[in-house]
Amino acid sequence: MKKQKRTPWALGAVLILAGGVAAKGEDLTVYLQNTATAEFMTLVAAKGVTAKIFRGIGVRIHWELGGPAKTGGAGIVIQFDSNAPSRFRPDAFAYATPFDYTRTCIHIFYDRVLGSVPRKLAPELLGHVMAHEIGHLLERTDGHSETGVMKAHWTTGDYDLMSMGPLSFTAGDVSAIRGYWSGSR
Ligand SMILES: [Zn+2]
Repeated sequence: MKKQKRTPWALGAVLILAGGVAAKGEDLTVYLQNTATAEFMTLVAAKGVTAKIFRGIGVRIHWELGGPAKTGGAGIVIQFDSNAPSRFRPDAFAYATPFDYTRTCIHIFYDRVLGSVPRKLAPELLGHVMAHEIGHLLERTDGHSETGVMKAHWTTGDYDLMSMGPLSFTAGDVSAIRGYWSGSR
């Protein structure tokens, strides 16, 4: 009986930690390029999923169109690509270049994302793909976690979870993501 009591306490501790992170709050501008290749409503819903995932760890995303060069601001750039050659990173939905700040940082193969799940799940998957790649850039690593947003390969079980609500970043991911702001100040 005692053992069962410990589980809710552990869960509570995690929630308090997440709340502490959220209380501080950080802002992140994400620029979207070549959005014409994406269906408008799917993209709107996907942005909502991505924003919710980051809001859960205290990061507010501000969406812009175009590139930081136009506005002179810092930020992360996501470019939507369709019809990439099938032999180019064939098993990937997207890729990020976390160590190269001179070029577009994230490329998303929109048609591959849409073709991988039933239509109604497309916004959830696209939202998680964007969150995953932004996660790579903020953590400045191409490494992955065992579970959640930063998992290397999501299974159909993960897709089922996504349909019920966003996946989470692990505690390790959260502290690495926070390093993006603490390291640059
Ligand atoms: Zn990855």
